Amino acid sequence: MSQIDDLPPLRDVIAAHDLRAKKSMGQNFLLDLNLTARIARVSGPLGGARVLEVGPGPGGLTRALLAEGAGRVVAIEKDARCLPALAEIAARYPGRLEVVSGDALEVDVPLEAPWRVVANLPYNVGTELLVRWLTPAAWPPPWESLTLMFQREVAERIVAAPGSKAYGRLAILAQWRCDARIAMTLPPEAFAPPPKVSSAVVHLTALPAPRFEADARVLSRVVAMGFNQRRKMLRAALKGLGPDIEDRLRAAGIAPTQRAEEVTLEQWCALARAVAEA
Ligand code: SAM
Repeated sequence: MSQIDDLPPLRDVIAAHDLRAKKSMGQNFLLDLNLTARIARVSGPLGGARVLEVGPGPGGLTRALLAEGAGRVVAIEKDARCLPALAEIAARYPGRLEVVSGDALEVDVPLEAPWRVVANLPYNVGTELLVRWLTPAAWPPPWESLTLMFQREVAERIVAAPGSKAYGRLAILAQWRCDARIAMTLPPEAFAPPPKVSSAVVHLTALPAPRFEADARVLSRVVAMGFNQRRKMLRAALKGLGPDIEDRLRAAGIAPTQRAEEVTLEQWCALARAVAEA
């Protein structure tokens, strides 16, 4: 196996710092540096890029980002046991790696926009972080792309098309203002310890403007209501939006008897506009 840098193999790093994986921290480590280099490259050429990494752990992906040329990497890690291993990487790449000790759900990103996110996310906070990145106060967001590892089932929900079981709130939220694709799938054995399910790397690129006009809060409310009772016809599922909901649905080109999973992104946005007008 070719080397991506002159630091010790990850197995040795884990043994030297006694980094036994903790389930409570969502720790499933990637030990193959060629694989982490492939993941890093999904985000595009890294020369000089500013990158946020969440959950660097022993640093496999961090090393790949730096070896691939990222100009500055900020890595937020909650497990303090990982900090000495990460300090060794920072010393190998002077001035390019800043490790922030803390919870990514609470820490502000100390990076000048635009930045990218590249992360093998802890599964317990992955969706929450994605939703936060997808719902900034203003669009375009401060990040240009998100390259994120998820459980495969979550990745499929992000890229799902209408008519599929995976299609729902996450697909609409992601696809409304981003291009989203699954770039890689990984079997459980790619990780140590192996998780129970397969994983996938999703790559999202922020569009300069939303695909279709809509108020973000209204769209989010309408979509959440529609999918909350996804087996019901929309005239019933969305009854709470007002007595004239059937008219609003028709104005958006949606039959009141349709179900949430049959409605396209363009129709959801038309419905959000019709509801906002009411
Ligand atoms: N990036 C490493 C890799 O690919 O081998 C580790 C990935 S592991 C799936 C998730 C990492 O996120 C762990 O290092 C864990 O300690 C860290 N983590 C868990 N919860 C976190 C949180 N709320 N904020 C920051 N890091 C967190």
